[in-house]
Amino acid sequence: MYLRLDAAPCIAVEQSDNEVFHQCRDRVVRSGVLLSSDCSRSLAVGDDVSVDGRVVGGVATRIVTNLRCSSMLNPYEGVDWTNTEYLHSVNHEHTFAPNTGGETWREGERGWEPQEVFDSLYYHGIRHFAISNYHPSKPTYPLADFFEEVPVDVIGCPNAEHTGTRGHYCAVGSTFESASRGFQGDWQDLFDGLLEELSYDGGGGIIINHPRRSGFSFEDLTDRFTYDDRIIGIEAWNHRGVVLPKYRSRGNALSTWDELLSAGVDCFGFFNPDYHTRWDWTRAGHPPRGRNVLLVEEQSESAAALAYREGRCFGALDGSGLRFEHIDASNGQVKVETDREAYISWISCGQVIASTMGTSAKYELTGGEPYIRIEAADETGERIFSQPIRFPEHDWQDE
Ligand SMILES: [Zn+2]
Repeated sequence: MYLRLDAAPCIAVEQSDNEVFHQCRDRVVRSGVLLSSDCSRSLAVGDDVSVDGRVVGGVATRIVTNLRCSSMLNPYEGVDWTNTEYLHSVNHEHTFAPNTGGETWREGERGWEPQEVFDSLYYHGIRHFAISNYHPSKPTYPLADFFEEVPVDVIGCPNAEHTGTRGHYCAVGSTFESASRGFQGDWQDLFDGLLEELSYDGGGGIIINHPRRSGFSFEDLTDRFTYDDRIIGIEAWNHRGVVLPKYRSRGNALSTWDELLSAGVDCFGFFNPDYHTRWDWTRAGHPPRGRNVLLVEEQSESAAALAYREGRCFGALDGSGLRFEHIDASNGQVKVETDREAYISWISCGQVIASTMGTSAKYELTGGEPYIRIEAADETGERIFSQPIRFPEHDWQDE
């Protein structure tokens, strides 16, 4: 029996010594290591397994088709793309001025009234408000306690930005309050408090804000991510950290995100302006950029918190409407569709590994990628960023 690789996406060859080799298209992978890109294109039970014409040992004892990578982690699995709602959210945005040492914030951050700031976010399409006021760090929730006019289609979420230890953190869904001068204690104590007070079952979690601006090393970040699996991600884009000269562009942490993902760290990316002013696109220079587009079946607080925890969302810089309309990973392929023509890029290990112009694209996995993420950009300059689809181990199994 011969099975041609171009007829079946993946073929596994179990050898007599029980080592399993996997062939994905024209490549042979062994324990996630690429052995060859030019292997034999047809195999049969009883054949010697060869790579580049060289017998690598053992005879094929079993040939299996329709493989899937059992350890694939795809946050979009289960998204009902035809019925999903696109709920625009921020998790790092300030509406009041800090008041260090005080009981509550001051109004009129940079001269803007809190209601004006709120209204400007609403005007620009934000419907899920996980506002992150600090000093004191406590939830701006429920919204009606802080803003006079809250439209009926707006969803609130407890959250705050916490400082005091090394780094700044938001915790989507947490009602934890820390002292007005910043949290007193180490980051582990802070994390314990934040996680203890998560209000939605299975939803929300801690996000490490502007990790490059905070000067975190790779080890600092992996320490935090191994602490608890409710540390859900980093702020991959903090626009304030991109445009304010004092932060020297370090608000863009896409490279940090790729570094973590390349090392197998389970880490989503989140996108925020972190502005402390009204969102004013007419002001010269710095339109607010960054938001999280949540994919939810219903517009509710708990559905939004779950989307954060599970990474059922994508990042957008402008919120102009360019969106992913389908992301699917199966049978050794990842497929994407967008709602309009865009420049679609596939990224793994910090490199663009393929790109194309169109409204759909397909990537054939080689078996060597620890993760794949997708970016799309349109002619207006809008950019959207998928969450990663991760392959912690390439242990392909029967479907
Ligand atoms: Zn902030």
